[in-house]
Amino acid sequence: METALMVDVHCHLTAREFEGKLDLLIRESIDSGVGVMITSGLGYEDSLKVLEISDYRRIYPSLGVPPHDLAGYERVLELIEKEKARIIGIGEVGLDYWRGSRSSRNVQERVFEEFIELAKSLDLPVIVHSRSAGKYALEILFREKAERVIMHAFDGKASHAMRAAGRGYMFSIPPSIVRSVQKQKLVDKLPLDNLLLESDAPVLAPDRNRVNHPKNVKISAEWISRIKGISFSRVVDKTTSNAVEVFGVRV
Ligand SMILES: [Zn+2]
Repeated sequence: METALMVDVHCHLTAREFEGKLDLLIRESIDSGVGVMITSGLGYEDSLKVLEISDYRRIYPSLGVPPHDLAGYERVLELIEKEKARIIGIGEVGLDYWRGSRSSRNVQERVFEEFIELAKSLDLPVIVHSRSAGKYALEILFREKAERVIMHAFDGKASHAMRAAGRGYMFSIPPSIVRSVQKQKLVDKLPLDNLLLESDAPVLAPDRNRVNHPKNVKISAEWISRIKGISFSRVVDKTTSNAVEVFGVRV
């Protein structure tokens, strides 16, 4: 049996770094075994661009707003409502206690709750950014009884992640795992059933100083394979079937 194509469940193809280079990026991704990319909006203007570049073959849209820069988030809520039939997820949304000021935390939490409620009412998965706030983001998700959840580039403790995995939450693993003992631990602890591949391109490259590319999800898969002592093709097959299940994309 042939190995499945990989799914990059979280990237930012509207980034300036990729301007005018999307055709090439898609070709390079396919050549590297990546069949589908889910591109996430960062705010209203960016979310409009996300819808514009989505072809529903290789590129699928998710709309959101960065938690440390929430200006105009109401328009993103409205856009999601309006485009609910065209999107496959809500995000990224969440909490950022690293960039956000301490005083903004209450606002971040309140807005995050609004997005979770919308995701629940539309029955869409939510892609969660939780930088330096993993535990707090999970607490809110648990409290809100969110079910379809993807924790992207989770930087919290494996013990917290395990509680979330028990509720069926998914964790997408970026190529920066090569330089992150925390992510390596996370992969070691979490079952394969709860893992997905992400690039977060253009950021979170294996080399901090390089522009990241969706094709690098292969590196995430290689590391999962090595850490778990299972074949590369099993990792790809399972993470792809996980992505198909949670997002309903066709690969
Ligand atoms: Zn991102």
